[in-house]
Amino acid sequence: DPIIQIRDLSVRYHVARTGNRLIAVQDVDLDVMEGEFLTVLGPSGCGKTTVLNCVAGLLTPTTGTILAGGRPVTAPGPDRAVVFQDYALLPWRTVADNVRFGLEMQPRLKEGAADRIAEAIRLVGLSGFENSYPRELSGGMQQRAGLARSLVADPRILLMDEPLGAVDALTREVMRAELKRIIDATGKTVVFITHSIDEAVQLGDRIAVFSSHPGTIKEIVSVTPGNR
Ligand code: ADP
Ligand code: ADP
Repeated sequence: DPIIQIRDLSVRYHVARTGNRLIAVQDVDLDVMEGEFLTVLGPSGCGKTTVLNCVAGLLTPTTGTILAGGRPVTAPGPDRAVVFQDYALLPWRTVADNVRFGLEMQPRLKEGAADRIAEAIRLVGLSGFENSYPRELSGGMQQRAGLARSLVADPRILLMDEPLGAVDALTREVMRAELKRIIDATGKTVVFITHSIDEAVQLGDRIAVFSSHPGTIKEIVSVTPGNR
């Protein structure tokens, strides 16, 4: 069975300023397989973040259903971790303490926390920077720290919203390959939003191509490694 099942998903926002209802996502059906790296490609404003936030449990769909691991999504859960474009690191906490934050809602993981944190930091290549503060790190390193925080509780699903969007162009190229290597090593299921065709093709096993407004899936493309 697919690890994520999205059926007839529609989301309408109420725009307070004008009193209008904006259809952000319309009738989206999507299955994501266990261990798959799915990229979601489309222009800005086509509803990619809205879909991801629904899967994360951060936003309630207007209509439709989402199952994660066979269970209806009603709220955020330990099976799904989100990686944000702006890293969302706490500036007054060190790298290790930011990563620790990924365990804080999960008392069952308290045991062995130090080992889990060290392992997540090692996985993203930040060993030696445990005691650094975010402002002392480059954008690419901050995103590694954000990724470690998402991985530390060992979620089954990683939801990534333009994780390289805030990183400079050169670092972005390097980080793309790095991300793929790190994530493939974990075997996690990934949904990765991007508006870069290159990124979608280089990273994805399949690409869900959204058309602009209102957000619908135009086509789903399988990427064979030979085409990368
Ligand atoms: P993206 O990088 O996905 O294009 P945006 O920069 O458009 O994201 O939006 C950033 C945040 O602002 C998101 O949390 C989104 O939900 C919110 N947002 C976007 N458009 C609007 C809007 N018209 N009214 C209120 N919030 C919005
Ligand atoms: P994308 O991630 O593809 O850039 P979004 O999902 O952020 O697209 O936004 C889809 C549409 O919904 C856009 O027109 C955006 O302005 C609008 N939107 C996003 N968040 C909100 C919000 N909180 N309130 C009102 N409109 C929003």
